[in-house]
Amino acid sequence: MLDKLQNKTVLVTGGAGFIGSNLCETLLSNNIKTICLDNFATGKKENIQPFLKDKNFKLVEGDIRNLEDCHTACNNVDYVLHQAALGSVPRSIKDPITTNDVNVSGFLNMLVAARDANVERFVYAASSSTYGDHEALPKVEDTIGKPLSPYAITKYVNELYADIFNKSYGLNTIGLRYFNVFGRRQDPDGAYAAVIPLFVKQFINHESPMINGDGSFSRDFTYIDNVVQMNMLAITTTNKKALNTVYNVAYGDRTTLLELTELLKKHLSDFDDTIKNVSIKHRENRVGDIPHSLASVDKAKKLLNYNPKFNINDGIKEAVVWYWKNL
Ligand code: NAD
Repeated sequence: MLDKLQNKTVLVTGGAGFIGSNLCETLLSNNIKTICLDNFATGKKENIQPFLKDKNFKLVEGDIRNLEDCHTACNNVDYVLHQAALGSVPRSIKDPITTNDVNVSGFLNMLVAARDANVERFVYAASSSTYGDHEALPKVEDTIGKPLSPYAITKYVNELYADIFNKSYGLNTIGLRYFNVFGRRQDPDGAYAAVIPLFVKQFINHESPMINGDGSFSRDFTYIDNVVQMNMLAITTTNKKALNTVYNVAYGDRTTLLELTELLKKHLSDFDDTIKNVSIKHRENRVGDIPHSLASVDKAKKLLNYNPKFNINDGIKEAVVWYWKNL
């Protein structure tokens, strides 16, 4: 699939973050010239440390809020995988201005720079949060509700801008609405850590994870390798009908928080048998959390030949091996 990228250059913004570093790793392991633009706001130097000695890798330390940095990074680039953003719904509620600056103004800068550099395709991280308060399951790309957070607004605005840049300037774009991604290098630390790395670290330390609500809320947890596959399909597809639209990126199944903790315990117990005795705590549901999330991945299967290889069990099994070795 990646053969056609042999003489191409791919820019990964946010390449020092969780998803971005996994994209860089796959590109580099296929000998593809890879540029990483990152300001290390939430990304880590250690995530890209092994890449620095690769002749195909270039780091541009810069900020997407700065148009000049975006132009520098886009120089001679063929494809953009735009991941740089400030994630986390609670962070956006606490500081909507910075989230908007990075996720909207920064996104617009990247579109402008990509347009000016005549890139072939601009693939960007959208989000399942765009479904907002729409209750129907599974989520189908054409039907969204009202956003439930400043973060969700920024991700929806990204889709609107991408569409307008296609219509106004002919820039080819693909938006990938990620659903609760997890896997190696996802940060377990900090106030805005995602639930899986946070719980893994707590279980390893024999601390009781805290579930919001009774644990019956469910999510379409998506292993990183499925996300990498979608990004690679998005930059390599030759199907013109697959361009200038958005896709759900998920496995297409949902798991409750209680089921998730059982899975984590099961796989972590392979390393430390006493983890199965660690108890779970509960507190009130978080305001604005939707009860359930589940994606239809039919559109991606049909137009991009997406074939997710990792269900949640297989993904968790691999992820905990990585955390056990690296935490
Ligand atoms: P992450 O925080 O690990 O990675 C984001 C990267 O962007 C970091 O390396 C950070 O330093 C960089 N960055 C932030 N602000 C920047 C700026 N102003 N200039 C340059 N670089 C900047 O997060 P992630 O989980 O890898 O998320 C990647 C993308 O996927 C984001 O756009 C996020 O909104 C989106 N997304 C993630 C999930 C998920 O479950 N992880 C779900 C939906 C959407």
